[in-house]
Amino acid sequence: MTSWPSGVRGLAWGADYNPEQWPEHVWAEDVELMRRAGVNLVSVGIFSWALLERADGEYDFGWLDRALDLLHEGGIRVDLATATASPPPWLTTAHPEMLPQRADGTRYSHGSRQEYCPSSPVYRAKAVALATALAERYRDHPALAAWHVGNEYGCHVARCYCDRCAEAFREWLRRRHGDLDALNEAWATAFWSQHYTAWDQILPPRLTPTFGNPGHLLDFDRFCSDALLELYKAERDVLHATTPGVPVTTNFMVGWTFDALDYWAWAAEVDFVSNDHYTRSESAERHVELAMAADLTRGLAGGRPWLLMEHSTSAVNWQPRNIAKLPGEMRRHSFAHTARGADGTLFFQWRQSRAGAERYHSAMVPHAGVETKVYREVCEVGAEYAKLTELLGSTVDASVAIVYDWQSRWLSGQEAHPTQDFSYQDTVFALYRQLWAAGVTVDFVPPSGDLSPYRLAVVPALYSVTDADAARLAEYVDGGGHVLVTYMSGLTDERGHVRLGGYPGAFRDLLGVWTEEFFPLREDEVVRLDDGGVAAVWTELLHTRGAEVVSAYADGPLPGVPAVTRNRHGAGTAWYLACGLGDDGLRRLVDAALEDAGVPARPGLEIVRRRGTRDGDAVSWLVAVNHEAHDVALPATGVELLSGSRVDSSLVVPAGAVVVLREEV
Ligand SMILES: [Zn+2]
Repeated sequence: MTSWPSGVRGLAWGADYNPEQWPEHVWAEDVELMRRAGVNLVSVGIFSWALLERADGEYDFGWLDRALDLLHEGGIRVDLATATASPPPWLTTAHPEMLPQRADGTRYSHGSRQEYCPSSPVYRAKAVALATALAERYRDHPALAAWHVGNEYGCHVARCYCDRCAEAFREWLRRRHGDLDALNEAWATAFWSQHYTAWDQILPPRLTPTFGNPGHLLDFDRFCSDALLELYKAERDVLHATTPGVPVTTNFMVGWTFDALDYWAWAAEVDFVSNDHYTRSESAERHVELAMAADLTRGLAGGRPWLLMEHSTSAVNWQPRNIAKLPGEMRRHSFAHTARGADGTLFFQWRQSRAGAERYHSAMVPHAGVETKVYREVCEVGAEYAKLTELLGSTVDASVAIVYDWQSRWLSGQEAHPTQDFSYQDTVFALYRQLWAAGVTVDFVPPSGDLSPYRLAVVPALYSVTDADAARLAEYVDGGGHVLVTYMSGLTDERGHVRLGGYPGAFRDLLGVWTEEFFPLREDEVVRLDDGGVAAVWTELLHTRGAEVVSAYADGPLPGVPAVTRNRHGAGTAWYLACGLGDDGLRRLVDAALEDAGVPARPGLEIVRRRGTRDGDAVSWLVAVNHEAHDVALPATGVELLSGSRVDSSLVVPAGAVVVLREEV
């Protein structure tokens, strides 16, 4: 299986292209402007189902034929959509039962997008039929480089609560649990009189008077992720069968908010990983959040190159206030993704829509036309990408891992916890931010991942963990690895059942501590530590059992109780962070853990090293992104690829700029 869009010369550069939104006389200009901008790959037809199939089984491919032919004549490769992201109104009108149902029983209507129930046999059959027809039509089209199945699965309808989903959920539960006794045990239905005596009593977790059953909610989250994955796989399989050798992907949404899909499971099913990333435009740390998403996406790709399927040239249209990007910001964002393993950078979308719900979302060609900041910068960066072909296929250097787990995110995000102020994403990011500031590149790995390549593994809020994964982490430390584990880790097994005998049950021995009670803090309450640090949100009544105390609370409800500990375990070290430590304290803790692990910190610029080969020789490249308003110099020798200039011993990265250095060492 080819694992990258075929025929793309160099790093990919392009966008979603929606020719169906424009009269055909615009298309020739589109291709001409694409060529001027260095575009070499576009995703076509993602939302075009209603125009490809105007009535049941009556396909009209004429316009798509002409668009693909034009693109091919222009030398532009096509990531062709299966167009199944949104069903047409004739289909939902004929089959209203395929419209998704919310937890409160109301149904969505058509007129927006993604209005289908993941378990609908009608949707599935029609989607597979369209994918099959497209594959048969375009199997030999010379522009076809890859397949783009669906779009942002689960973006709006990750969970449907309809009767058909109830049936599918029961089938999924039978496969997972086998019988009702096992299900009752897993869900602890002895609590609140929830014991089930027949399968048909089990429903999706619809509207209930108060908190739902945690096991029920967790299994439904798992089921919903799997149900959408099955839809993707159904289309993928016909594409593989009809066009063997053409790689298939679907665009993930690894970012800040979306958490409905277990992307570790999804990543195993795509031929190459692709991701859509949009910054939270009002966040002052949006470039750091971007870096974390890019690193997590690379983790999903198993360290192999991945494709940034969508980001924005400037503002989006769906945030409360959509802040435009400053000059140079789109370039920095693009190169930061490339630094972190993206071998291509595409945008939503090519030409800014003049109508429709996303008409104020920026694009490569804005409403104002080509004499604009945005189009000029698009052309400049496109020309720069063309100079970086040698980076293709290279990998990213990282010596620290963060263990990331969607199931822990789901469980820890449920209601009825010690505090509502805990956030999985905030907890991960608080640590990532410190590693980013220290100039340390991070790989993300699943709880079952191989930690042996890393000196340090950071384990934030690994709420639920299997015995096997907990044992693997302990073995890693035994063998000389270093870990930093935070509060809200190791609390439960994979069913969400608390591990007894003191928290964090899965990691007590590894960490040399035990906690007898949680002491979450009041809203806005801050406690001081004896090393000058402060903590908010979370503290716990912790006892050491072999670990040394690094810092303890100086005030608050637990004066004198350890807040941060460090334990020698075998040949390695296990740190435990038992509180919501503030940024200064986190910086000191991360620095100390890095030093323990022998990982050098390199604060200053955002610098990532990629490694590969050139003419058969091992080569490395430094990609440096200067987010500051002043020039920064760094020691380096080699050739700067964007300017073509030689660098001897010192490379100056101008304020706001990007450099790519082929290193000579
Ligand atoms: Zn449904």
